[in-house]
Amino acid sequence: MAAQVLDGKALAQKTELELSERVARLKERSGGQTPILATILVGDDPASATYVRMKGNACQRVGMDSLKVELPSSTTTEQLMAKIHELNADANVHGILLQHPVPHQIDEAACFNAIDIAKDVDGVTHLGFGRMAMGLPAYGSATPKGIMRLLDAYEIPLRGKHAVVVGRSPILGKPMAMMLLNANATVTICHSHTTNLAEIVRQADVIVGAVGRPELIKADWIRDDAVVVDAGFHPDEGRVGDIELEPLKQRVSAYTPVPGGVGPMTINTLIYQTVESAEKKILG
Ligand code: NAP
Repeated sequence: MAAQVLDGKALAQKTELELSERVARLKERSGGQTPILATILVGDDPASATYVRMKGNACQRVGMDSLKVELPSSTTTEQLMAKIHELNADANVHGILLQHPVPHQIDEAACFNAIDIAKDVDGVTHLGFGRMAMGLPAYGSATPKGIMRLLDAYEIPLRGKHAVVVGRSPILGKPMAMMLLNANATVTICHSHTTNLAEIVRQADVIVGAVGRPELIKADWIRDDAVVVDAGFHPDEGRVGDIELEPLKQRVSAYTPVPGGVGPMTINTLIYQTVESAEKKILG
């Protein structure tokens, strides 16, 4: 039987309609105040510029504004921090996105951590991660939170399931594992030092590919009834993800398409959390 497609694109479009209504209501009730996401792009990496543009466009589609900050690739940690402090202090800004990665001379973690927790709508601060991990209110890291929203929308059961996350980056694998743990899954995290990856993946009820290597996770490692979530996207290597997906489409229980699965949910979660932040600030 064909697997269920976890259609992130469709869910993001549906959510945008709901967000448009919430933004319109917010404007109505506040005498025209508009939620604003500040986006910071440092340097001239074309892929990062595209991501920032896509995020700005998503803001526009739901009636929000974005404040675009562009800094040269020679920017120092101190200069970037100063800009973040300025945006923290700006009462009209409800969320701050610092596009990853920043040029190598910048201390990225320090700059992420400089973002006010109330404006950390991309879920990148250590404080936000700690709060989320402890089950306290916090904005989730956008990609794993987007995955959780997608699994929730399709009512994929997680309680008691064995979830295997391949990758442990601060913005993806690690928070993904904590979110799955908080949903009462039994979680295994794999990384580049894992010696028996295929064997562990074979045990997964839910497998999350967050590894950044095209089709590193092979189809024949994955069980017939598994739920397959692929965070990767490699446009220059055949537009594939981190998981060898094609042979799985007829035999697993559900999968995220690449593209059109996790990617749209990441941007959607960013704007979703910005609307939440604006509602809290403006309506209290
Ligand atoms: P990353 O920072 O490069 O982290 C990759 C992780 O994979 C690391 O934890 C690394 O382990 C692990 N790894 C590398 N080689 C491995 C191997 N041979 N076996 C097992 N684990 C291995 O990447 P990321 O930022 O988390 O991104 C991961 C993927 O998600 C990428 O494909 C990226 O494009 C995608 N992504 C998508 C979105 C979206 O919006 N859709 C957003 C972010 C990322 P170590 O920790 O041991 O080095």
